[in-house]
Amino acid sequence: QSQELSQARIDYHVALQALQEHGTRMVCTGKMHTDRICRFDYLCYSSEAEEFVFFHSNSSVMLPNLGSRRFQPALLDLSSVEDHNTQYFNFLELPAATLKFMSKPVFVPDVTLILNRFNPDNLMHVFHDDLLPAYYTMKQYSDLDDEARLVFMEGWSEGPHFDLYRLLSSKQPLLKEQLRNFGKLMCFTKSYVGLSKMTTWYQYGFVQPQGPKANMLVSGNEIRQFARALMEKMNITSVEEVEKEGGSSEDEKEKKDEYIVVFSRSTTRLILNEAELIMVLAQEFQMRVVTVSLEDQSFPSIIQVISGASMLVSMHGAQLITSLFLPRRATVVELFPFAVNPEQYTPYKTLASLPGMDLHYISWRNTNEENTVTHPDRPWEQGGITHLEKEEQERILASKDVPRHLCCRNPEWLFRIYQDTLVDIPSVLEVLKEGMKSKPSMKKSKPASLVHPGRVREPQCQTSVQTTNEAKLTVSWQIPWNLKYLKVREVKYEVWIQEQGENTYMPYILPQQNYTFSENIKPFTTYLVWVRCIFNKNLLGPFADVLMCRT
Ligand code: UDP
Repeated sequence: QSQELSQARIDYHVALQALQEHGTRMVCTGKMHTDRICRFDYLCYSSEAEEFVFFHSNSSVMLPNLGSRRFQPALLDLSSVEDHNTQYFNFLELPAATLKFMSKPVFVPDVTLILNRFNPDNLMHVFHDDLLPAYYTMKQYSDLDDEARLVFMEGWSEGPHFDLYRLLSSKQPLLKEQLRNFGKLMCFTKSYVGLSKMTTWYQYGFVQPQGPKANMLVSGNEIRQFARALMEKMNITSVEEVEKEGGSSEDEKEKKDEYIVVFSRSTTRLILNEAELIMVLAQEFQMRVVTVSLEDQSFPSIIQVISGASMLVSMHGAQLITSLFLPRRATVVELFPFAVNPEQYTPYKTLASLPGMDLHYISWRNTNEENTVTHPDRPWEQGGITHLEKEEQERILASKDVPRHLCCRNPEWLFRIYQDTLVDIPSVLEVLKEGMKSKPSMKKSKPASLVHPGRVREPQCQTSVQTTNEAKLTVSWQIPWNLKYLKVREVKYEVWIQEQGENTYMPYILPQQNYTFSENIKPFTTYLVWVRCIFNKNLLGPFADVLMCRT
């Protein structure tokens, strides 16, 4: 296997000499371990110690040089899950001189990205925690290109979705267990360690109950570009149609080949009357209904189907991450078992609602206890509860709503989320009809402009004193530079006026480029004035430099 790393491509003696002379070099971004990614020259890994090794020499570099704060708690997170104590990265240190007492290192010539997969068995985790972050980490560092080598250090085997990880680069990813095949010491010529968290939108509830991340930094645009790139790699032809002016004949033409996908689970969290649900959906929407499942189809063939669907219907579960491949304007319908509150488990709702994702989201929950099938006798990780004390079992059985809880072993949560459901057809139809009312119509749903206004230019103020207690303040400005190139539906300006020394201000929204204020304006007073431009009600520009206006 070591030929695969093609030692021939680098001059072994040059590499060894460079390592011995220069040691390891590290430069990182990020102030904290949670936002840090590090780039290394000659980072080594001892498969014997199962540790990364930093070799010190006169010309080695370690930035940040944290001293022993490097262990409080770690240099960086190796997975995209924030500050998880099983996902920390660090290295051991040795003087480069000790190399001569060690077995000869094997050099990895490829530019390498070293990371932990968080939960490679679960499709949601694969996409949210690994594929999207790795894809955009690779975009961040241009030498992490299609030839980059990925190394997964979490210690798991390939897992059921390894083909998806293979799409990230043309080189076979390496697993931790494979590193020992390369000898006792391997050294990565150039490597990056850690993952960007920029694209993640959900936190799983390790320190507070699960929910959307507090500070989301990703939009539908980046998710869709990632989806498109992955589809290209899977040789899927996108059927997403070019945006058309919404003429009625074209609407009808499109309607003909619209279809609904029911994503079915075959082992747990079943829809017990799936056939009936499919029939009713077909009737209600006058569309074909296609079922897919991870058990029956290849992933690419599922994505091919989903990428052309008008609606995706599924029980809550990891398979719903495939909604990121839905075309714009499609609807996601997420079904929840009895006693599970849809508002508290929103990874897919949050995804569908990202700005620019252009998906419509509807949830339904089973509120009829007679329609649920529980599995108290299963092992605890599939929601069994018979291992619990009798009283606790009875409390869980009597409860009609899982209270908020932390990840990941709450037995009441597991018990409820692994129920099978006989879906009540009238109530689903009701929710769908109601939910479709708020779906943006074809014509309205033209992708909204994402362009923000620039600063207003040449802001000025003029003042005059009228009487001993009356004054006027005229503020004027020019349009932002980028506006002359744009067609904007609505342009407004916001002016804030603050009397110097006061800590409140008066905000005004104005349609024109100048205004004379006379109410609440006092003579012989200094006012601070801020002006900014607003496009289409919610695209706020930056404030121009503050004006000091003395009446
Ligand atoms: N899964 C599946 N069919 C099933 C049950 C699970 O395809 O009947 C898949 C599921 O989509 C996920 C993985 O198996 O990728 C683990 O499922 P689990 O129920 O543990 O996680 P969840 O779906 O609740 O995130």
